Parts: sequence; structure tokens; C-alpha cells
Amino acid sequence: MSTVAQYEAVTHEIAAASVEAGRPADAVSLVAVTKTIAAEGIWPVIAAGHRVFGENRVQEAKSKWPELKERQAGIELHLIGPLQSNKAKEALALFDVIQTVDRTSLCAALAKEIDKLGHAPRLLVQVNTGAEPQKAGVLPEEADAFIAACRGEFGFAIDGLMCIPPADEAPGPHFALLGKIAERNGLKTLSMGMSADYVTAVRLGATHVRVGSAIFGERPKL
Ligand SMILES: *Cc1c(COP(=O)(O)O)cnc(C)c1O
Repeated sequence: MSTVAQYEAVTHEIAAASVEAGRPADAVSLVAVTKTIAAEGIWPVIAAGHRVFGENRVQEAKSKWPELKERQAGIELHLIGPLQSNKAKEALALFDVIQTVDRTSLCAALAKEIDKLGHAPRLLVQVNTGAEPQKAGVLPEEADAFIAACRGEFGFAIDGLMCIPPADEAPGPHFALLGKIAERNGLKTLSMGMSADYVTAVRLGATHVRVGSAIFGERPKL
């Protein structure tokens, strides 16, 4: 199947799963994940009308998205990978949404640059729902305090939460946990679900799913 046919199949499945879950067909926004995909591989999906994309590295995004944004207005770019504080300024120049806010040192760096710029991107807090030592994100038990600090100390209007469940566990309980944390903090945006589990995420209330390989094909293993 072509990239565009795969893209259309994914959007169809998301809409079908939304309706099946009693949600509007357009309840869920697809973030098409383009890490490792070159600009010419991304373009057909933009030409097909898609506008929301995700990258997990600042440097890689910088190498292809300014040019793609020049070719097509209205692109919304999400950072879905860990952000180093010293790249806050570059990230703000490139991304419309940062999904991986997870520590106060990063908040401080972002706040400083947001202040200088005079406008803020949409911000999501990443939660390490599986408490995996190698994974970014705040621990579930620290999430409420961290969200409060983001809002209070840093003045951020946090949009919602993001998680990446452990690869070897059923994702459902992790998605449900993220939903609970969001609900008790009055947050509406839930970024959860990837190629293997986005239908489950839609059923459990995702507002954004991040899908790469199901659209663009398997990536080479790093
Ligand atoms: C790569 C990546 C995705 C997409 O993964 P696929 O399994 O290819 O759909 C989603 N979220 C994050 C944070 C990623 O790094």
C-alpha cells in the first residue's frame, strides 16, 4: 500500500473507533509521526490534506520542517520526544505543541524563552505511567504537584497529558491511568496511542494519537 493509502486507512480506523466508542467521528486528532522520514516521503501526506505532524528530535525537525512549512501553510508540528533545556529556544521556534514537559528545570528554560517571544506553544505534561527508569515523564504520583507547579510557578496553561506505555505491557491500564490524572486536574487533551495501540487509546478517550509506522512503514531499528 502507498503511504497515502496507509494514511487514509489509519484516519478511517480512528474515525470508526471514535464512533464505536460513542464519540464524534472527528473527536481524535491524528499526529502523523515523521521521525526518520525525509521531506519527500512526508510531502504526499501533506498533499493529501494532512496538517498535524510529530517529530521526536529538535535537530531532525529543524532539518526538514521549516522548508515544508514554507511549502504548505497551516502545518501544526508537535514535539513528542524529550527536550533538553538548552534546546528550549530552538524548540519554540519550530513546534506549535510541546508534548514532553516533565521537569521544573525544563519549565524554567521554556518560561524564560516564552517570555522573550511573547507567545507560548500548547504544552502537555508527559507522564511515565509505567514508572520505567529509562523513560522520560513525571511519575504518576508526582503528576498533580508537577501540573500545579507548571500552572502556578511558571504560569503555563497546560493543555493535557501524554504517555508512552511500557512496550511489554497491555496499554489499556496506562491509558486509563492517564485519563484519571487528566480528569482530576481538569485537563482535556490526552495524547496516547501509537501504531500498535491507537484503537485502544481512542476507546479510552485519547484526543490525540501519535502514529508513525502504520502510515510511513517500519523504521530502521536504531
Ligand atoms: C515514534 C513515536 C511514535 C510513533 O510510533 P509508531 O509505533 O511508529 O506509530 C509515537 N510517539 C512517540 C513519542 C514516538 O517517539
